[in-house]
Amino acid sequence: MILRATTTALPLLAIALPALADEVNVYSLRQPELVQPLFDAFTAETGIAVNVAFIDKGMVERLVSEGDRSPADLVMTVDIARLSQVVDAGVTQPVSSPVLEANIPAEFRDPGNQWFGLTSRARIVYASKERVKDGEVTTYEDLADPKWTGRICTRPGTHDYNLGLAAAMILHHDAAYMKTWATGLRANLAKKPEGNDRSQVKSIWAGECDISLGNTYYMGEMLADPEQAEWANSVRIVFPVFEGGGTHVNVSGVAMTKAAPNRAAAQKLMEFLSSDEAQKIYAETNNEFPVKPGVPASALVQGWGSFTPDTVNLMDVARERPEALKIMEEVNFDG
Ligand code: FE
Repeated sequence: MILRATTTALPLLAIALPALADEVNVYSLRQPELVQPLFDAFTAETGIAVNVAFIDKGMVERLVSEGDRSPADLVMTVDIARLSQVVDAGVTQPVSSPVLEANIPAEFRDPGNQWFGLTSRARIVYASKERVKDGEVTTYEDLADPKWTGRICTRPGTHDYNLGLAAAMILHHDAAYMKTWATGLRANLAKKPEGNDRSQVKSIWAGECDISLGNTYYMGEMLADPEQAEWANSVRIVFPVFEGGGTHVNVSGVAMTKAAPNRAAAQKLMEFLSSDEAQKIYAETNNEFPVKPGVPASALVQGWGSFTPDTVNLMDVARERPEALKIMEEVNFDG
């Protein structure tokens, strides 16, 4: 404004300077094809360029070693455990934004404003259409019942997705209960816990097991892939609940780095990601649940039916993660 109000020579500068300065650098663990449509929409609307580095390993270590010189403004990742790890490493800063507070319900953001959830996902059961009856899958606790002996597949118990579920089990009961549960669940496995959530569905399709644990959006990903669609079509989604609770949900989210060289532009991008427009792109592109109230899930996701999300606090889930990991190792879940 000051530039525009002064001499005739300065307006040129006023145009040139923001073009140089208006960019946001993102370190993302999220897949390129998922986040690019969001960044393209943001750039089209604001003229602010978004540079993305995809980092699937060593995100925290990199931010710590770069310190104040880090070019990153924002970190985008999945799972409350990974969001918490970035925050706990001291490389983020709080963002005070009425827009983010209005768009994102309190349960999906850090009370200290260090991280903000952008989508949620449920950890559910994929059940064989042929071999699992309606009503047979009930609670997460029931998955440890011997009636499931030799019928369950899952990715490793030490993976963040399963540790989130196990941490919630500790919160609903206690550590001793979770240990008994993990022991029972392990005894019911059809095979050693290996691979990802989709490969477990492949195992159901192949007849190796009847049910598996997995995140909801993988159904969408499998259906979009010619080979995997066959696996997806052999199962249906069932929403188990905790006894006296709901279905386990986790988040993907964003945090601003402490070093952020482009704070104002970065906050604009964060706010955009929580907007109706971006939340709709998230819903349609990756079949996750938007966190902003009023933005509908995709038609595909709605077709899986409704469920009651569990109400354990995600910060508590992150807090119990080390205990959950210790117990998973004690019972040699992945052995
Ligand atoms: Fe995933």
